[in-house]
Amino acid sequence: MNTKELVKSKQNGHNLNAFAIDDIGDDHLYTGLETPMKPDAFKISDEEKKEKIAILFEEIMDTMGLDLTDDSLKGTPKRVAKMYIDEIFSGLNPANKPQVALFDNKYQYNQMLVEKNITFYSNCEHHFVPIIGKAHVAYISSGKVIGLSKLNRFVQYYAKRPQVQERLTNQIAEELKSILQTDDVAVIIDAKHLCVSSRGIKDDTSSTVTAYYGGVFNTSQKITELQNYLK
Ligand SMILES: [Zn+2]
Repeated sequence: MNTKELVKSKQNGHNLNAFAIDDIGDDHLYTGLETPMKPDAFKISDEEKKEKIAILFEEIMDTMGLDLTDDSLKGTPKRVAKMYIDEIFSGLNPANKPQVALFDNKYQYNQMLVEKNITFYSNCEHHFVPIIGKAHVAYISSGKVIGLSKLNRFVQYYAKRPQVQERLTNQIAEELKSILQTDDVAVIIDAKHLCVSSRGIKDDTSSTVTAYYGGVFNTSQKITELQNYLK
């Protein structure tokens, strides 16, 4: 199916993956830990994806009545396509997952390690507008330690997907649990959703907080200790 045919087929009754737009509404649904991907998600290359997205985005702009011969607008479809694949949604491709090296805990540091205020930019999967926030991650070594910048990199990797905050929180936590070979992992995210502030309810002051407390972090003593570090 070529791109024009693809656009045509999508025009049948506003039907996307069997959800009618009217049914989706404004609710923020959360369907599971894994980012929902098609089995053939990587059948075509990133370069082919960029070409396809550029054509489709041009179609969107053209449909909105924008003049794509205008000097300021004509490069936009390609810019958006490149930005989607290489930057803001690069975390969809497992090839971009950070490589990790574990080290033995030679320092014998057995208390919690907290990496706080990790700034991230993500995008809401329901509206494709930014989620801007801070992540705080903590773990207690089970004998292995990880380079500090890797904690940051895993936050960025999972943020660079269309996301909901609940999934982002759990994906980071599950990844760190698996890498660090321990359940003693905590992730707290405090983020602003532009789909809440710039449109819809237009609330500019609220933020959303989500947390994952695994293993010994799921006790009031450890939660209090962690909260004290985050003050
Ligand atoms: Zn949204």
